[in-house]
Amino acid sequence: MRPETVAEFGTWRIVVPTVRVVESHLVLVRSVGRVDSLNEREAADLIDAYRAATSVLHRIFGSSGFMISFSVLWQPDSEGIGEPDPVPGAGCAIHVFGRRPGELISPVRAMALPRRVRLPARPDPELVERLRHELSLPPEPLTIEAPEGNLCDGCTGSVLTDQERWRSRDVRVIRPRRVLIDPHVLVLPLRHVVSLRDLEPSEVVSLSARLIESLAQFRLGSGSTGLSGFANDGIHARQETPHVHLHVYGRSATEPVNPYQRLAAYLSPNRP
Ligand SMILES: [Zn+2]
Repeated sequence: MRPETVAEFGTWRIVVPTVRVVESHLVLVRSVGRVDSLNEREAADLIDAYRAATSVLHRIFGSSGFMISFSVLWQPDSEGIGEPDPVPGAGCAIHVFGRRPGELISPVRAMALPRRVRLPARPDPELVERLRHELSLPPEPLTIEAPEGNLCDGCTGSVLTDQERWRSRDVRVIRPRRVLIDPHVLVLPLRHVVSLRDLEPSEVVSLSARLIESLAQFRLGSGSTGLSGFANDGIHARQETPHVHLHVYGRSATEPVNPYQRLAAYLSPNRP
């Protein structure tokens, strides 16, 4: 069974994956290219697709926060701990999971299980038709609630002193304050921007280019052959710092530990 396309935005499509991790799961895909080599036009299409996907998840499922998951030159192993199933035929895929208070299970919890014992949502023709219809309408405005606080960890404090590893074209790459695994960096725009929905195309191009550099660094330091990563958008997705940041891990088939396995072990029962 093929994933169903429900909307197109230039080179990007929104698809319903055949194996949904949670009900509110869509994927932004491109047939060609990779997520670490976007040009400005492709980045603008990606932002449009993300805004539309998040708006429609809000309208249908009441999602008020979002998690994204992506990978570069990396396919999860058969257990797939921490990651969704790859989308067949997609050169480049960004998974979008809607989050809301009171949800049955968070995508993080669902993906902490090995793929074979997950309970995937079954394909639903009615949902596909509803998504197609809703996505043919202009997207509704959506404000994503941000974490509160006067000081932003993405603009102030140790990010200005000892966390930054390098920066280029309005994006900085930093070492996380709490390192659970190595190799791991955070990639964030210099501009204070709270939601992924509000990124500028030039920032997305630069974030994408910093991923190539991160992989080159990880390859040298840890023998990584690919990347996987995620970001949380909004307080209902447990975004902790009110400043867009991508968590990026180096991955390889010979890695000593799957970073998501380490993260799952770190999550206490009271965390999402
Ligand atoms: Zn900030």
